[in-house]
Amino acid sequence: MKIVVCIRQGLDGEINPFDACAYEEALKIGGEITILSMGPLTAKDFLLKLTRLGAKKAILLSDRAFAGADTLATAYTLSLAIKKLNPDYVFCGRQTLIGDTAQTGPMLSVYANMGLITNVMGIASINETQITCRTRDMGEISAKAPALLTVERINNLRLPSIRSKMGEVEVWTANDIGADISRCGLIGSPTRVLETKENSSGRRRCKYITADKLSTVISEAVNKSASNTEQNAVSDKKLTKVFSIGEAPLEYAKTVCDNPTVIPLSTPEKIAEIIKAENPQAVIWGSDSYSKQVSARVSAMLDLGLCADCTSLQTDGEILYMVRPALAGSVVAKIKSITTPAMATVRTTQKDTSDILVGIGYGARESIEKIKAFAQKIGADITATRKMVDNDFLPYYLQVGLTGKTVAPAVYIAVGISGAVHHIVGMQQSGTVIAINPDKDAPIFDYADYGIVANIEDIEF
Ligand SMILES: Cc1cc2nc3c(=O)[nH]c(=O)nc-3n(C[C@H](O)[C@H](O)[C@H](O)COP(=O)(O)OP(=O)(O)OC[C@H]3O[C@@H](n4cnc5c(N)ncnc54)[C@H](O)[C@@H]3O)c2cc1C
Repeated sequence: MKIVVCIRQGLDGEINPFDACAYEEALKIGGEITILSMGPLTAKDFLLKLTRLGAKKAILLSDRAFAGADTLATAYTLSLAIKKLNPDYVFCGRQTLIGDTAQTGPMLSVYANMGLITNVMGIASINETQITCRTRDMGEISAKAPALLTVERINNLRLPSIRSKMGEVEVWTANDIGADISRCGLIGSPTRVLETKENSSGRRRCKYITADKLSTVISEAVNKSASNTEQNAVSDKKLTKVFSIGEAPLEYAKTVCDNPTVIPLSTPEKIAEIIKAENPQAVIWGSDSYSKQVSARVSAMLDLGLCADCTSLQTDGEILYMVRPALAGSVVAKIKSITTPAMATVRTTQKDTSDILVGIGYGARESIEKIKAFAQKIGADITATRKMVDNDFLPYYLQVGLTGKTVAPAVYIAVGISGAVHHIVGMQQSGTVIAINPDKDAPIFDYADYGIVANIEDIEF
C-alpha cells in the first residue's frame, strides 16, 4: 500500500502538530510511506530527520514560483506531485497552525481526483481498495481508494529509535511536476490580504465581585440577550446578489446584502452547478465540518478563492471584504478575493447548547466534578480549554477556541482559564462573561464583564 503524508514545517521549525498525527497514523499502518512537503530548501534537514521514523523518501516541492501560495494554489501544486507519486492514500493533518483554515486537504482531494474523509479520529479498517474511518462529528465514513484523509489531533508522533536509518529527500521544482506557474504561489492565489491589525476584539471592562454575588449576576445576565456587535455591523452600501449556503450564515450574509438567497447545503457538485449557473457576487458558508469540507471542494472545482473562519464581512457595494483572525488569533486580517464570486466561511456559533456555559480550564482540573454539579444546578453545559483536552481531562468536542468550537451563550463562566487569545476567539461573542481565577493579572479578566479573584476550591456554589 502506498501512502503519501503531507507535512508542513511550522514557524517554530517543528512539524505541524496535526500533520504529526497524520504521519503517526500512516506509520501505524505501515506500507510504503512518502512524505510530501512544500517549502524553502532549508526544510530539507527537517524532512530528512522525519524519514528516520519510517518514511523511505521525502519529496520537497521547492521553487520560487511556489512562494506566497494561499490554500488553493498550495492544493494545486501538491496535487501535481500526488499525481506523479500515484499513492493509494494521502494523509494530511486537518489544518496547519499557521493558516488554520482546514481547506487544503479537501481542495487537494478535488485536484488530485481522490475520495475524501475529513476530521478523522481513527482508522477502523484499511486495505488497498477501501478505507473506513471514525470521524469527529460525522460518524463512521468509508471511501474507495485512492482517498485523502484529514486527521485530527489524535495521537503523538513516535520518537526515532537509536538504530533508525535516514531516508532520502528529493527536491522537485515547478518543472519537475509540470506546474502551470500562473496557478502557483502568490500569482496563482485568488485571496489577497489587504491589511492586518492587532486583534483587540472581545475586550471588556471587568467589574470585580465577591463569590456570593455570583448567582445574582448570572440571573441578571441570562435575562439580557447575548450581544454580538462585530458580526452584526451592517455595511452602508450593499451587494445585490449573495448566496447563504444554509440558514446558519444568513445573519452574516445580511450584513452585506439586503436579500441574500438561501441555498440548501448539499453536495459540492450540486452547489458548484448552482453557483456556475447563477453567478452571484458572493457565497457565504457556515463553519460546521461539512460546510467547511464542501466549500473547500467547491472552491477547487470552480477555482475560486475561499476565505476561512471570517468574524465579520464588509462591502463597499462592489467588493466583499472578509475579516478573520490570523496568526493564531493575535491579529485580524482584511482579505479580498480576486475571483468572483467571493467565497467565505463564517464563524457561526454552536446553537445547540444551553444559555449558560461553564468553561473549565487547567486551573480547575481538580474540581471538574464540583463544577459539573454546579452547572447542572443552574442548567448550564460545560466546555473546556485545549489544555484540558490535550491532557485528557475532558473530551475534544467540549473544546472552545481557535482549534475547537465557537460558542455564544448568554453567559460564559470561565473557571480556571488563563484567557489565551486562542480560547478567547471561541467565546468572545458571549453575552456576559464571568471569570473565576486566583491570579488577578490573568488575561481572562480583560475579556470578562465580572471577575471573582479566588481559587475554585474556596467557592461554594
Ligand atoms: C495554534 C494554537 C491553537 C490553540 N487553540 C486553542 C483552542 O482552541 N482553545 C483553547 O482553549 N486553547 C487553545 N490553544 C492553547 C492556548 O494557547 C492556551 O494554552 C490554553 O487555552 C490554556 O488553557 P487554560 O487556560 O486552561 O490553562 P492555563 O493557561 O494553564 O491557565 C490556568 C489558569 O488557572 C488559574 N488557576 C490556577 N489555580 C486555580 C484554582 N485553584 N482555581 C481557579 N483557577 C486557578 C491560573 O491562574 C491560570 O490563569 C491553542 C494554542 C495554539 C498555539
